[in-house]
Amino acid sequence: MKFATKVIHAGIEPDPSTGAIMTPIFQTSTYVQNAPGNHKGYEYARTQNPTRDALQKNLAALENGTHAICFSSGLAATDGIIKLFSSGDEVISTNDLYGGTYRAFTKVYERFGMKFHFTDMTDVNNISPLINANTKMIWIETPTNPMLNIIDIAAVCKIAKEKNILVCVDNTFASPYLQTPLDLGADIVMHSATKFLGGHSDVIHGCVIVKEKTLADKLYFIQNATGAVPGPQDCFLILRGIKTLHLRMQRSCENAEKIAHFLLTQPKIEKVYYPGFTDHKNHDIAKKQMRMFGAMVSFTLKGDNFEEAKRILSSTKLFSLAESLGGVESLIGHPASMTHASIPKEERMKTGLVDSLIRLSVGVEDVDDLIDDLKKALN
Ligand SMILES: *Cc1c(COP(=O)(O)O)cnc(C)c1O
Repeated sequence: MKFATKVIHAGIEPDPSTGAIMTPIFQTSTYVQNAPGNHKGYEYARTQNPTRDALQKNLAALENGTHAICFSSGLAATDGIIKLFSSGDEVISTNDLYGGTYRAFTKVYERFGMKFHFTDMTDVNNISPLINANTKMIWIETPTNPMLNIIDIAAVCKIAKEKNILVCVDNTFASPYLQTPLDLGADIVMHSATKFLGGHSDVIHGCVIVKEKTLADKLYFIQNATGAVPGPQDCFLILRGIKTLHLRMQRSCENAEKIAHFLLTQPKIEKVYYPGFTDHKNHDIAKKQMRMFGAMVSFTLKGDNFEEAKRILSSTKLFSLAESLGGVESLIGHPASMTHASIPKEERMKTGLVDSLIRLSVGVEDVDDLIDDLKKALN
């Protein structure tokens, strides 16, 4: 099945009791049994829910995996993955990272005795020196948030395989329409489905996709044993959003490319970060591992002018000033004070995340209106 067919049909069956074409929202906590232990495969809704089952099957198909495990948020999905490990285990992570992931790694799991190393993985040679006998996982985000760094997933997986280390890719920024890390050798893919998968800025949700049953069983165990499950209505909203994922991504990526080129012509702008530029670091890798270059564009202002950045951030009309990304509507954000405020300033500056950095999540509106909005705000 091709991608555009999978988003609509994979894992989705008409409801057996009524024929409803849309997966019903099974808003129930428990299921009636005929006799003790004699049931229809559903006992208690933390453990199984038919709406969640349909979504999990669909997500597994989109990422070319075998199993998907859903959680109540992207961070709950990450939490589920980290619970595969124990005190003393170590993880090597990208240094330009979603702020909430960095906060969970350093402020929560380190308290339980895990150790996290952060390094610039745009050069994969930086990874090997950090590997030791305790290294259990390499954590990749690509494109990274918000610098849009590109990491060579296949090259990292090659390094990890030799040492028997798991590779997890946070695929939130790309979505499976653009990039399928399991095909490149990764063991685990995670998403904040809040973003492109849901696509309509109306739900918080997370998921993990794997291609191997032993790992899937461990994650299902954690999902049930520690309980950060999504509600059925949220699963329905993600299923609903996914049906247009390919159309939304296609349009958002086309719009982002035009906007990136427009920003290059603007005199107040110092640098535009967009993986589609031929001089963007690792552009050739983006070309190899992604279908298009994504819907995110970041830029900085000349002289790192923070006051001017604040003015622009409050001047756009169509680009709404808000955290998050990946919805049909365009958003503008200030990582240093919003999504990445939990990262210490000196750490931020090291990765280029300066105070005038502005991040755009490009939606599916008419691109002429979007460019006009930015033009007015910049001048
Ligand atoms: C938003 C986001 C997360 C966290 O997801 P939530 O659904 O907000 O918990 C993780 N990684 C990336 C790249 C994100 O953008």
